[in-house]
Amino acid sequence: MIIILMGAPGSGKGTQSKRLVDHFQIPHLSTGEMLREAKKRGDETGRQIAECIDSGRLVSDDLILHLVEDRLSQPQYQRGCLLDGVPRTTVQAMRLDELFRRHAWTLDHVVALSVPQTELVRRLAARAKVEGRADDTPETIARRMDVYDKQTAPLLEFFRSRGLLREVAAVGSAEDVFQRVLSAVNGQA
Ligand code: AMP
Repeated sequence: MIIILMGAPGSGKGTQSKRLVDHFQIPHLSTGEMLREAKKRGDETGRQIAECIDSGRLVSDDLILHLVEDRLSQPQYQRGCLLDGVPRTTVQAMRLDELFRRHAWTLDHVVALSVPQTELVRRLAARAKVEGRADDTPETIARRMDVYDKQTAPLLEFFRSRGLLREVAAVGSAEDVFQRVLSAVNGQA
């Protein structure tokens, strides 16, 4: 089973990913986490990644596709996975589509977590206090929202037109949201 989880920064992708991978017993592939690991290494690539993440911009499609292809070639990903935070651009969506076709993998669901903008900003400001993520400053949050609206949100239509999109209201408790996600994936929403 392959599931793509989409949502603006602060929509709860991380929390819902954990529940989904536990429930479906599939590996989790988070490009944000992979990039934060690469950033910590501090080499030239790590420095370039840090510049993008810390300013709220996207890293290059080539780098993302390289990381994702590499990860998906590992044996534990052959049964499927949860893709969290990718694709984020049309180019990434097209190239992932090609990759799935080459391996004869089927994309089962695209779950999009919907949260009103004011609530997103409130959550990210709260997370900044608790986690101290370098990309949770007010300026970076604003840029990440803008990047999401301009570069990632158009993908919702791409997946909707293919009948794969399951939109879920991601407000309320994490458990309530998860139950809505499950209903959506199981075709009851
Ligand atoms: P996330 O943890 O998914 O919110 O990602 C944190 C940051 O990593 C983003 O703001 C981007 O700078 C970068 N990033 C994560 N995934 C991608 C992607 N698929 N394409 C480009 N940049 C990404």
